[in-house]
Amino acid sequence: MPEPIPFLDLETQYKKIKPEIMAAVEDVFGSRAFIQGKYVRRFEEEFSQAIGVGGGIGCSSGTSALVLALAALGVKEGDEVITTPHTFFATGEAISILGARPVFVDIVSTDYTIDPCHIESAITGRTVAIAPVHIYGAPCDMTPILEIAQKYDLAVIEDCAQAHLASYKGSMVGSLGDISAFSFYPGKNLGAYGDAGLVATSNEEVAGVIRKLLDHGRQSKYEHEMVGYNYRMDGVQAAILSVKLKYLKDWNRARRIAASLYNERLCPRGFKVAEHLSECEPVYHLYVVEVSNRYDVIKSLTSQGIDVGVHYPVPLHLQPALKHLGYRPGDFPNAECAANRVVSLPMCPEITEAQIDRVCGTFLEVARP
Ligand SMILES: *Cc1c(COP(=O)(O)O)cnc(C)c1O
Repeated sequence: MPEPIPFLDLETQYKKIKPEIMAAVEDVFGSRAFIQGKYVRRFEEEFSQAIGVGGGIGCSSGTSALVLALAALGVKEGDEVITTPHTFFATGEAISILGARPVFVDIVSTDYTIDPCHIESAITGRTVAIAPVHIYGAPCDMTPILEIAQKYDLAVIEDCAQAHLASYKGSMVGSLGDISAFSFYPGKNLGAYGDAGLVATSNEEVAGVIRKLLDHGRQSKYEHEMVGYNYRMDGVQAAILSVKLKYLKDWNRARRIAASLYNERLCPRGFKVAEHLSECEPVYHLYVVEVSNRYDVIKSLTSQGIDVGVHYPVPLHLQPALKHLGYRPGDFPNAECAANRVVSLPMCPEITEAQIDRVCGTFLEVARP
């Protein structure tokens, strides 16, 4: 059996930065700033500066960041939020948790993001917001989305869980809409060593509401102004994220290089891979290629010790948990086609050209476009 190729090599990354990580963890343990506190404040400042947003509020996960963002904008029972079916479940889940209805529209087949052409016809009297997702690290086409939002007075919530430091027309994603949600789940481009997330907004009033909401609606220690959540960020995660944030630009660059190596090997053979908008810089959280014989491809790569994934096999409108929404197979052809055909190949900053050669060699032996 040849040397396995992991989908994501967090072990190699950890070995490189271990002394810094351990020092940061010891600092937190020594200071006992376990929940919120100075390490969280420091990371919030560093991250908001990196994405060019007035304020960042650390929280417990990407999912809680989405819930907080929606709740702070006043999304409530009976409201509708337009989003994409081609995303991780949490996007639709967060909308549903607040009692609102996710309204799906199809994606573009080039980069798998929400198709702005379908948004206007999905707007009703109950629509309050649009939630574009920068899926796989590819910035959505934000200009038309923001124009529609302005025309109908809708809020825009960016799901940036896969797109830390991706840019669109010179601006960082997360700084384009009214508010944005980031995840620092360990496997994300910027990953904690546990769960963590962040809400970013330049609206100070909204930021103030979020700070209360994530800490039991507290105004002071025993005075609760509203019913909120326990969605606070841990100091240890914040300190670790501050260490890792320094490397993020380099890591994203390494991902882009890996993606172009994959493209050079797969595109000439007729495989469809993500095609990005000009004037934008994706960050390749995932490297996705379409095949017509996915079962065989996964079996063959796995048997050679090459770890692959499928993101995502079931679009949100066909998830059992959302069947009450009444969607049917065939409603969103591009999203359903992607769900049936995508394979994610190993992708992380540490992947080597030799590893990419081996992945592509095995892939090309079996895969059909
Ligand atoms: C990971 C992810 C989330 C949820 O983040 P968690 O930190 O796991 O809660 C939300 N949306 C998208 C698109 C994601 O990839």
